[in-house]
Amino acid sequence: MWKDRVIGGEIISEYLMEARKLTKEFEVSVGMFKSRAKIRAVDEVSFGIKEGEQIALVGESGCGKSTLGRLLLGLIKPSSGQILYKGRNIWRLSRKEFEEFRRNAQIIPQNPYDALNPTKKLSAALIPQILRHKIAKGRSEARKMALDLLEMVGLSPPEDFIDRYPSRLSGGQMQRVVIARAISVKPQFIVADEAVSMLDASLRVEILDMMHKIGEELKTTFLLITHDLGVARYFAKNGKIAIMYLGDIVEIGETEEIIRNPLHPYTKALLAAIPVPDPKIARERKSIPLKSIDVPSLLKPISGCKFHTRCPYAIEDCEKIKPELRLVGNRWVACHLT
Ligand code: SF4
Repeated sequence: MWKDRVIGGEIISEYLMEARKLTKEFEVSVGMFKSRAKIRAVDEVSFGIKEGEQIALVGESGCGKSTLGRLLLGLIKPSSGQILYKGRNIWRLSRKEFEEFRRNAQIIPQNPYDALNPTKKLSAALIPQILRHKIAKGRSEARKMALDLLEMVGLSPPEDFIDRYPSRLSGGQMQRVVIARAISVKPQFIVADEAVSMLDASLRVEILDMMHKIGEELKTTFLLITHDLGVARYFAKNGKIAIMYLGDIVEIGETEEIIRNPLHPYTKALLAAIPVPDPKIARERKSIPLKSIDVPSLLKPISGCKFHTRCPYAIEDCEKIKPELRLVGNRWVACHLT
């Protein structure tokens, strides 16, 4: 699904971030005798994210979406395949270039309580890295930038917050600090991994709005990882949704197109599980009769399409041949029936 343009020997990619046949396997111990087994958390995933795009990656827990996020950030090495940043394989960059990439690719983790050191004031969460990456010339400029960042994420007046310890903040305020820290080094790409799942519903909307606004104002590219299709739709309303199932991306395209007309049976099943207030849309969105509600274990490799054990539309080929992502209209779908 990628197109390369080569100018002067350099690959000019149309994407800011790209995964090419990206695979990650982990060794796990199984059963009473702790025998070793391999699971494939991410299985030859290929997709691209354009500069400034806001994408939501959706799937049930354990489907590999967080592993994919960590691979894209260069936090873990792939077992095979490539991650390209502006057309260059991040694992072939020089040490200096890799450090620059890591500044440009930040994470907003799920749990702000783990992300902030409880013994350090917020100034210590922000100022040192602004200085380390030479975003400010000196300490007073860095402090001024830290105040501006706190204001930007809605912690106002920032002078009241900068010398507080995290223990004096609510969960929502802590998550705002974590977001301020992620954007403090002016990254081009942010992975927000279940960044709102620990917050209550009203705060969730505020934080999603804020990340959306930051993405638009700072032209930051966002990948939001979530198990909640409603959250994905809200965040990526002008962007794209990618649906992941057992290590594969099965559908990716513009958010409203996918929500209004899902093509992959798994996307249909996910959507059918969401309650909708509009009875007309509810009638149109018929539930699909899955053969099983259980997600199969990754410990036993599944041949063909991994959804065939649950898919009510499975045909003979589905058990034998793995469907590739194919362009269908405006989007990519991995299903033999599309
Ligand atoms: Fe269902 Fe076959 Fe499509 Fe997989 S490839 S989603 S099993 S119809």
